Formats: sequence, structure tokens, C-alpha cells
Amino acid sequence: MSLFESARFLTSAAQVNQLPPAGLPEIAFAGRSNAGKSTTINVLTRQGRLAFASKTPGRTQLVNFFNLSRKTGEGKKAGREDIAFLVDLPGYGYAQANENVKAQWGKMIEDYLHKSKQLKLVFLLIDIRHAPSENDRIMYDWIRRNGYDPIIIATKLDKINRSQIQKQIKLIRTTLQAGADTQIIPYSAQTKQGREEIYEILDGVLAAENPAQE
Ligand code: GDP
Repeated sequence: MSLFESARFLTSAAQVNQLPPAGLPEIAFAGRSNAGKSTTINVLTRQGRLAFASKTPGRTQLVNFFNLSRKTGEGKKAGREDIAFLVDLPGYGYAQANENVKAQWGKMIEDYLHKSKQLKLVFLLIDIRHAPSENDRIMYDWIRRNGYDPIIIATKLDKINRSQIQKQIKLIRTTLQAGADTQIIPYSAQTKQGREEIYEILDGVLAAENPAQE
């Protein structure tokens, strides 16, 4: 379980000047197309098809914002309070995209990382079966260069043998040239392995940013 109780789609932004006003902490998810980003967001928010909103035609190249909220009060005073934005960054590295579109994606993601004042946590999703691509490396470097220490979610854990896990994590780490301090969490949306670890990190940020109310 996690601190937030519900999540809902808020808005899409095509340019950084369309981002919602700052005010709430932001938690971003990045990853190449097909890495399992939507599936992971759906599992973490416990809302079956939530992040597939980001996949509807016209939205795939946008930064999509979701509100995370928690319950407040009891009985008649019960209500809901938004505590964070979950930010779904456009999936990159889509084979069919032409160079123009690719450049646009890159700019959008880089602008967001550069301009967001409330970004507190970045998850980078990478398929555990494969070595990170050139685009994954660029993404990892962008995140680092903007001052963030991404948490890597190594997705589709259920698709490899237990004996391969450490080898694949090492491959991810060396290909990204990530130091030992970069956390890599093996994760499966199917078995939910790794989910509690992700919640712990997420909750740490949410709790720090949203002190409990009396
Ligand atoms: P996105 O493009 O990064 O948003 O990727 P999706 O969430 O759409 O996932 C891409 C494909 O991988 C879909 O067919 C998912 O069902 C599958 N997938 C995602 N996560 C997992 C996982 O943990 N295990 C398995 N076996 N398949 C997964």
C-alpha cells in the first residue's frame, strides 16, 4: 500500500509553458516505448487503465500529468487532498518515429527536466532482458545532468530466470555507466515483485513533502 489513495488524469502538455502550475511535488516516470511504463503506473496507482490515457492517439508525445491524492478527515469531514503530480514522460525510441518527431520528444523531456521546480523523484524504466539502448543512456545522462539521481525500475522480471537477475542488473549498470549508488529495482507488473520497494521510495518522498495533517 502507499500513502496516496487515488490517482486521476489531470492534463497533457505539449510544451513546457503548458505545464500545470507548480505547487505540488512531482514524481516522473521515463522510459523507452514498450519498456512497461504504462503498465507499471497502472499497477502502482492500482488503477487498471489509468496510464493508457497517455497512449491515446495524440497523447503519446506529450507529458501527461496525473494527480495523486489522499483521504483527509473522517465522517462528515471526509475529503480528498491532492498531494503530488505523477508525471508520465513521453516514451522515446519508437522505431517508426521520424527524426523530427524524435527531436521533439527529446526537447520536451529535456525541457521538462530542466524547468520543473518541483520534481522530486525520477524513475527510469528499463526492460531487464536487454542492455539499455543508446536512447536509455541519453535519458539517464539527461536526468543526471539536471541534478537528479534516477531510480531504475528494471521491468518484466518475470520474463527471465532467477539465475539471470544479477547478470542483467550488472549489464544495465555498466551500460549506463551508473555508479553503485544508483538504485536498480527488479520489478514485475505480473508478479508484483519489487512493488513494495518502489512504494517505499515513493512514500518517502510523499511523506517528506506532505507532512501528516491533524
Ligand atoms: P510502455 O510503452 O512503456 O507504456 O509499455 P506498456 O506498459 O504498454 O507495456 C509494453 C508491453 O509489455 C505490454 O504488452 C505489457 O503487457 C508488457 N509488460 C509490461 N510490464 C510487464 C511485466 O512486468 N511482465 C510481463 N511479462 N509483461 C509486461
